[in-house]
Amino acid sequence: MNFEAYFENELTKLKEEGNYRVFADIEREKGAFPKAVFHGPDGQKPVKVWCSNDYLGMGQHPKVLAAMHEVLDSCGAGAGGTRNISGTNHHHVLLEQELASLHNKEAALLFTSGYVSNWAGLGTLGARIPGLIILSDALNHASMIEGIRHSRAKCVVFRHNDPHDLREKIAALDPAAPKMIAFESVYSMDGDIAPIREFCDIADEYGAMTYLDEVHAVGLYGDHGGGIAEREGLMDRITVIEGTLGKAFGVVGGYIAASTALVDFVRSFASGFIFTTALPPHIAAGARASIQHLKQSNWERMRQRDRVEKVRIRLREIGIPAMENPSHIVPVMVGDPVKCKMISDWLMERNGIYVQPINYPTVPRGTERLRITPSPVHTDQDIDDLVEALSELWSHCALARAVA
Ligand SMILES: *Cc1c(COP(=O)(O)O)cnc(C)c1O
Repeated sequence: MNFEAYFENELTKLKEEGNYRVFADIEREKGAFPKAVFHGPDGQKPVKVWCSNDYLGMGQHPKVLAAMHEVLDSCGAGAGGTRNISGTNHHHVLLEQELASLHNKEAALLFTSGYVSNWAGLGTLGARIPGLIILSDALNHASMIEGIRHSRAKCVVFRHNDPHDLREKIAALDPAAPKMIAFESVYSMDGDIAPIREFCDIADEYGAMTYLDEVHAVGLYGDHGGGIAEREGLMDRITVIEGTLGKAFGVVGGYIAASTALVDFVRSFASGFIFTTALPPHIAAGARASIQHLKQSNWERMRQRDRVEKVRIRLREIGIPAMENPSHIVPVMVGDPVKCKMISDWLMERNGIYVQPINYPTVPRGTERLRITPSPVHTDQDIDDLVEALSELWSHCALARAVA
């Protein structure tokens, strides 16, 4: 086989479909978020980032940076090993205590990313609980799907956020089989939110465990940033809460929070936890500082909500179709992969505005979009600039506007 020709041919196909991924090469500017320097084909230029998952700007928070500097200087760069062999640093232990407390659970376990926590958490539970059947929401994240697949447990997919379909599917299963319902709270592409209480009711009725990915909710919802389950008073009804330290908390890493026995079980059997070097201690310290800050400060959450509302109102005024949803994510629907990429390129080149185009397979074909994430660090002027630029490009691409 001519491997090179094969690779190139496959990539050409992607490009022709408009689905080839181009990464924007940026340097974020601490203290000046959402400002960044874009390294483009024509050299460097300043841009404003409108698609970051550092939802609250915690990646530049002085308390987070101070904690990281302090521990970098006291402990050095890396953890020095896997958690099992010399790599468990005191800062990991403190962070795990903090995470357990955040979700009001007995214990928590840290992973190198949210992806790995889902992959290893679901993978281990699915593989090690004999006969477990996993009921999985149709729009679950790739990391959950991969974890379930890897576990080789039987998987039944239910319609997205649909308790009726879930009930029908779970009722049809062997009543004696152990079951788990796996879903997310905030879905990151449409920004819709799961009916957690109804799912928990169904879980109780059929004796199922619940596994909730709160990656796009931790730090952002609930009085202490514990996520949607905290806001709804449902944390104690969820068996496993999974989250990330890389989005609203602004650092990197992932975790699960659950009972002592469940966490100890995953710690003891998960290959993806055991056989990899632990996160650097200063990362753990930075994440902990971020969680602690957002536990007692509502300012960032309130300011973000205000910015989100403002962007939505301004877009509505000019008839640009943003998908309605109850979260902080503003999906502006383009519905065409080539135009989506073109608008994104133009925003970057002409307006210094960075919004990554979201195309298939991340979202279904025909629903290509610009996923805008307003944050506390976006000013009124930033919003004006974004809306004006979008309006101009919308007309330029002859895209439809909603009638006001
Ligand atoms: C981003 C994401 C993850 C993975 O988290 P990382 O910390 O970025 O690896 C898991 N679940 C969902 C729903 C996500 O969007």
